[in-house]
Amino acid sequence: MSTVKPDKYAVFGSPIKHSKSPIIHQLFAEQTGQNISYDAIEVSADDFIKSVNTFFAGGGKGLNCTVPLKGLAWKYAENKSEHAEYSKAVNTLILQDDGSVYGDNTDGIGLVRDLNNNQGISPNGKRILILGAGGASRGILGPLLDQLPMSVFIVNRTVSKALELANQFAKKGMVSGCGYADLYDKKFDLILNATSASLSDQLPPLPEGILGKQGVCYDLAYGNKPTAFVRWGFENKAEKSLDGLGMLVEQAAEAFYLWRGVRPDTGVVIRELKNRIQ
Ligand code: NDP
Repeated sequence: MSTVKPDKYAVFGSPIKHSKSPIIHQLFAEQTGQNISYDAIEVSADDFIKSVNTFFAGGGKGLNCTVPLKGLAWKYAENKSEHAEYSKAVNTLILQDDGSVYGDNTDGIGLVRDLNNNQGISPNGKRILILGAGGASRGILGPLLDQLPMSVFIVNRTVSKALELANQFAKKGMVSGCGYADLYDKKFDLILNATSASLSDQLPPLPEGILGKQGVCYDLAYGNKPTAFVRWGFENKAEKSLDGLGMLVEQAAEAFYLWRGVRPDTGVVIRELKNRIQ
């Protein structure tokens, strides 16, 4: 009996050891009957181009790229979605039939789907604060602004990066940049932590009283226990204080759809991952 070789996919990044993407894509593949393999491969920025070329030359069909490679993936992709082009960050590469490589960014769609579909939180009409002005903020800004929030503030430790990012997206909606010291007199309905502070259990310097009544906190990071920012949300009486596991699964589902043309049931996979983490 001949066995058909699985189509090859992977996530590149550094560090990558703890990535949950291989489990997520394996669960998607089982659920939808797709014959794929998906590996997590440690790739530094210096080795990026060589590693991507080798992967596709060796039969690879698609890649996810994570920290610190999203900007390099943006440069690598010959064609991009409008959103990826604008955000200057790519997390999904697709080898096309003509041999060219297409880039997209599914982080923003992942966040918006998790908020709207899984958490029952609509960004529409909300006063939103995004902490951080790195790759993740770039990826989520466009899809968030498409939801027509009342306003979006980007706050960053390096203030110039927040101002630059706000400027870049100003045509798309009400978006401003500032430093943490400028937040003391402001209130927000939804605070999204897109800094990497949670990865070292740190908290950005947030002033008291910035979370509005029935405000929601959402950390793009996730872990086996509540992050420092999720804990801050609870301490500051957030109606909900959530981590980014749902976003992770939703952005992966969009990448899976781009590669395979099939939409997995994300709810089942989020529940399965939560069970495995506990
Ligand atoms: P980057 O390295 O591109 O950006 C990091 C940002 O965090 C910068 O704005 C940096 O500020 C800020 N920062 C770092 N440490 C601190 C601190 N102690 N206090 C205040 N600000 C700080 O990272 P990414 O944007 O790619 O990733 C950010 C987070 O989002 C990570 O936790 C990542 O895991 C998560 N993520 C989750 C996804 C999901 O699917 N759930 C998808 C994508 C990302 P400065 O510019 O001043 O250095």
